Amino acid sequence: MLNETHDPSLTSWVTSANEDGTDFPIQNLPFAVFRMAGSDEYYRGGVAIGDQVLDLAAVASIGLFKGLAQDALNACTHEELNEFMAMGKEAWSALRLALSRSLRSGAVEEPVLESCLVSQSDVEFKLPCLIHDYTDFYASVYHAQAVGALFRPDNPLLPNYKWVPVGYHGRASSIGVSGQMFPRPQGQIKSPDDDTPGFGPCRRLDYEVEVGIYIGPGNQLGQPISIDESEDHIFGLSLLNDWSARDIQAWEYQPLGPFLAKSFASTVSPWIVTAEALLPFRERFTRPAGDPEPLAYLSSKYNSEAGAFNMTLDCFVRTSGSHEDNKVSSSNFKYAYWTAAQMITHHTVNGCNLQPGDLLGSGTQSGPEPEEAGSLLELTKGGKEPVKLSNGEERCFLEDGDSVIMRGFCQKEGARRIGFGEVVSTVLPTGSFNPHNGSIH
Ligand code: MN
Repeated sequence: MLNETHDPSLTSWVTSANEDGTDFPIQNLPFAVFRMAGSDEYYRGGVAIGDQVLDLAAVASIGLFKGLAQDALNACTHEELNEFMAMGKEAWSALRLALSRSLRSGAVEEPVLESCLVSQSDVEFKLPCLIHDYTDFYASVYHAQAVGALFRPDNPLLPNYKWVPVGYHGRASSIGVSGQMFPRPQGQIKSPDDDTPGFGPCRRLDYEVEVGIYIGPGNQLGQPISIDESEDHIFGLSLLNDWSARDIQAWEYQPLGPFLAKSFASTVSPWIVTAEALLPFRERFTRPAGDPEPLAYLSSKYNSEAGAFNMTLDCFVRTSGSHEDNKVSSSNFKYAYWTAAQMITHHTVNGCNLQPGDLLGSGTQSGPEPEEAGSLLELTKGGKEPVKLSNGEERCFLEDGDSVIMRGFCQKEGARRIGFGEVVSTVLPTGSFNPHNGSIH
């Protein structure tokens, strides 16, 4: 299944792509939508290579590629990548191969393509596609157990957990790209000691370290995606911070699940790393001995052999008083109790249709160890034990001016390390957003 684009010995004539530790070697080639920062240019697709962005609209206008690769390239010239995502894996793969060959050391295309590069430090991003719908899953059993114990000490893991990939329908309108700033949400809050709720700014603002799964072609209403087909519908993965207001959540979540505690903001990284780039990092998907096997519709040979992704997820908090990124946790998507393919199949098994560019959240990706907890709620045992930051400050939950940064990468012997870049977003004081002109003051 691996092909020449995965060859770890490949190098690029874009020399920054050959540096150790770069997120964007020639084996990665992730997609984003960008323009020159501060300009009024139109947004268009781009591919990361080293510290540069290859401007796909500029490449398309040259007409360098042939056939399906050029068709796919033409679909990346718009300000949304939905059309490209809808084309499916043959088209994605044809473009990846053409880009890989023309960006390689010694490629004859170098003089032409060099004029299509811009520095990543000079661009700004928008969401990579129109996200019609956003669904958030709950795929880490370690997170489910830890949070369940805080909300329901006597009954942490509900009886459906090991049978159903649980999810809820999130809010697409408030998803922003890295750099998102939002005011601290307000809402109804009821402390355990109070008889009635009050109203005010959230006091238990939290992040969730998640993986975003972007849907490719999707399905027609009434035609489920089988587990054998589901991999073909994974366009790629990104980093996702699913912001959460824990005090609002605790009061509102029963019986219908999260609502205003989640819908005020969610932030994604600009780059989507494609499923094909992630192939070297697929791993066996297993369940602990004694746990039920997934029902037949959620089980396949490929899903068992390679359903998981070995993707490291690091999280940092930067306070307004310093510029230091204080690492608070490190986890891995491979710990997920449900795979991306199972989420897709389960989502559609009732006939529900997924559309190109839809976003699935993996749920908070906590690992088995305490330092692998993907939220402050877990790291602080429900706000009882503050996290000590390396700059000397402490946090139970986030304060105004705090930024949360997530970074991800895949690393394995015999493969070139690839990264996801980062997602950073900042909480502002309640009321700091002016709804009349959209500006932040
Ligand atoms: Mn979540």
